[in-house]
Amino acid sequence: MDLTVVGTGYVGLVAGTCFAETGHTVTCIDKDENKIEMLKRGEIPIYEPQLEELVKRNVKKKRLFFSTDLHAAVQKTEVAFIAVGTPQDEDGSADLSHVLGVAREIGKALTRPIVVVNKSTVPVGTGERVKAEIATVTSIPIEIVSNPEFLKEGAAVDDFLKPDRIIIGTEGGEHAKAVMTDLYAPFNRTQNRTIFMDVRSAEMTKYAANSMLATRISFMNEIANLCEKVGADVNKVRIGIGSDPRIGASFLFPGVGFGGSCFPKDIRALMRTGEAAGSPSRILRIVDEVNNAQKRVLLDKVIAALGKDLNGKQIAVWGLAFKPQTDDMREAPAITVIEGLLERGAKVRASDPEAIKQAKRVFGDRITYDDDQYACLEGSDALLVVTEWNEYRRPNFKRIKELLKQPYVFDGRNVYEPETMKKMGFIYSGIGRS
Ligand code: NAD
Repeated sequence: MDLTVVGTGYVGLVAGTCFAETGHTVTCIDKDENKIEMLKRGEIPIYEPQLEELVKRNVKKKRLFFSTDLHAAVQKTEVAFIAVGTPQDEDGSADLSHVLGVAREIGKALTRPIVVVNKSTVPVGTGERVKAEIATVTSIPIEIVSNPEFLKEGAAVDDFLKPDRIIIGTEGGEHAKAVMTDLYAPFNRTQNRTIFMDVRSAEMTKYAANSMLATRISFMNEIANLCEKVGADVNKVRIGIGSDPRIGASFLFPGVGFGGSCFPKDIRALMRTGEAAGSPSRILRIVDEVNNAQKRVLLDKVIAALGKDLNGKQIAVWGLAFKPQTDDMREAPAITVIEGLLERGAKVRASDPEAIKQAKRVFGDRITYDDDQYACLEGSDALLVVTEWNEYRRPNFKRIKELLKQPYVFDGRNVYEPETMKKMGFIYSGIGRS
């Protein structure tokens, strides 16, 4: 099949590349000329494991193309995916200007009926709005499909190639259903994981899934904070509750709050949907509130140990990306932590295996960046672990101890054992482990 994917970010680039990998001819479109030029040169604008190899292979086989010309791509396509950003609007709702703008452009380019698949995360009712937008510029009929994406940054290729579920919302027509079944057949070989439903339910499924996961994190963070106050160890509590199959063991790790381009904006967008529908969510309001407070927990611990005035203090930060295996810094907890340290006069030296380039866009020259994770410890009064990259899990503790001016370690991801750290002479504090 000839496919067009509009929006060449985490979702569009991964989806387009994986469809090309199964034999389809895919044109990935973006309005960002720099991004398209980079991709044409074989450079991948984001860090995502396995992606580079897959992109290069499919470009070489002439199945994967990059372009800014949406019109030309859509004219020869059978299916057009919309995978552009849906950032948070000023009032917290999802900004649909990119999605609707692309819909209009697709409409203008149409020469025959096609299937238009919305992969962006969009509020209930957007499918109908996309269809209406297209109808303002053409009388050629299209079929709308909602196919929300569930990939995780850091494991995006793997998630796309081996999905837990494929949600497909259609208007009921057999053609769109058959096209989508065919497209996803290669990812459904061991077991059919496709769940068909109507467009509105598919749109809601994505928000409900992210909101459930965000709720779990905020709940565990509250439990962790309470554990710390009452002398319990959240790590033991986590294992204890996770052994109940009704709860399950995954996604129970407390930390410094969730960030990234999805959870924060998606829970707020669902809150706005609830308000507009006269069914406001009290739970999500609190989930957001707890999360914002949790992003400050490490900062509070530093202040409790080193004082409110951090002038003359230097703090080392390990981990800038919002989670490991990505360079994405959107709404990363590291931003709240570092801004708080800078406000109090501290000097910050930070390291991250992949996110330094992105971090420079956020902090500029207000902090110092070290490629070597140990370099930033030199002369520092404390080490803060903000992202749990693998290389931070078993570091050379002897070296850390020698390099730090004071042996404070604030572990925002509970990667170290409190007892072991204490024995090594560190003044250690994790999350929820008194
Ligand atoms: P992104 O910001 O990485 O990429 C979006 C791309 O769309 C950008 O390259 C941008 O230049 C391009 N774009 C914007 N307007 C355009 C236009 N008019 N024409 C052509 N290109 C245009 O975004 P993303 O992280 O890939 O997310 C895309 C959507 O998927 C969002 O709705 C997001 O919520 C959702 N989603 C994201 C993830 C994730 O992990 N990142 C997971 C599931 C769903």
